[in-house]
Amino acid sequence: TESLFGQVEAFAGDPILSLNDAFKADPRTEKVNLSIGVYTDEKGRIPVLRAVKTAYERTGFAERPYLPMEGHAGYREGVQKLVFGDGHPARAEKRIATIQTLGGTGAVGIAADFLAKHAPGRTVLVSDPTWENHHGLFQRAGFTTTTYPYWDRANRSVDFDGMVKAFEAAENGSIVVLQPVCHNPTGVDLDERQQEAVTDVLIAKRHIVVFDMAYQGFGTSLDEDAAFVRRYARRASCLVANSFSKNFSLYGERCGGLSVVCRDADEAERVLGQLKLAVRRSYSSPPMTGGLLVATVLGSDELRAQWAGEVETMRTRMDSMRKLLAEHIRALSNEIDVSFLLNQRGMFSYTGLSAQQVDTMRERDGVYLVGSGRMCVAGLNEANVPKVAKSFVEAQARG
Ligand code: PLP
Repeated sequence: TESLFGQVEAFAGDPILSLNDAFKADPRTEKVNLSIGVYTDEKGRIPVLRAVKTAYERTGFAERPYLPMEGHAGYREGVQKLVFGDGHPARAEKRIATIQTLGGTGAVGIAADFLAKHAPGRTVLVSDPTWENHHGLFQRAGFTTTTYPYWDRANRSVDFDGMVKAFEAAENGSIVVLQPVCHNPTGVDLDERQQEAVTDVLIAKRHIVVFDMAYQGFGTSLDEDAAFVRRYARRASCLVANSFSKNFSLYGERCGGLSVVCRDADEAERVLGQLKLAVRRSYSSPPMTGGLLVATVLGSDELRAQWAGEVETMRTRMDSMRKLLAEHIRALSNEIDVSFLLNQRGMFSYTGLSAQQVDTMRERDGVYLVGSGRMCVAGLNEANVPKVAKSFVEAQARG
């Protein structure tokens, strides 16, 4: 028969997801997966949070009508309170338009579609490096993406001057994607003073800021991690994508939110309408089961408090694994500066290892990092840290 799709190119695959497949296929029992961005507990399992389990039991399975395009009302309320804080002036003034989205990816995707229609032709700046899909999602929506400096390799910190210069040099009204906390893939964030200085520049340049907050609660605390977004939203309009994949451990349920902070309630109403239209044209309405879980937890004081405690448990475990790995590396070599492990935050650490060193660690030791040298610290546990430390030190020594 005639081939309709003979010219279709093979999909190269997502490098991180492919690595995950390679890990699964690796027959070695002592292998360690530090590649994919998934939080696992001390036993290497994706946790089922107790608050979420209780919400599941409470909601059960009843009728499944369509949710509205914008999502579940209680869920959207929960997103706003969590992201902006209960007493935020923009909330009190009803000028935030919030929708339930298909994870953080869906939130960034709808943000890109919305901007393609209402701020077309602008340049999109994303950090160098960033979560790769920032490029993909904005390009799919028709934008050209470019980068601003972010990672200072020599100091394993933020290239703050380079970043500010890029924002100043960009055309007024450009779209700037910022990760406010637990930057993926580097693990380095702006401090408060830097956040304020960047805010001044972004506002002066009238840039359109899209915050992408995928790790709220994994940095310092749920509230402190949102402080940059909250302060920014007091001063200017912005878009905020948030994800519940990590902090609710609900990866496969696709739970996230998109909030657009507007000038007044009337504008927010119209923006909400346009977000609904973007959803309608894409997938019509979000899924209900995960939505109900999040809405139930965030809508109950008791479950919300329990959940906050569980987020804290995940965060402190990652912190202690950073410390433990640093100690083990130090014990093996006093030539390696491990301070980066302790200074970086969240699920990821940019190790500074080269692609070749990463390859050797994988091939020789079955220790899987991403080719960029990104390590997911959530994959560490007491049992595998000694092996990872040894592999790391040997890789460094080979240069
Ligand atoms: N944005 C960033 C910065 C991320 O790191 C991730 C997840 O890896 C996402 C968005 C996607 O989140 P989700 O899995 O909820 O779609």
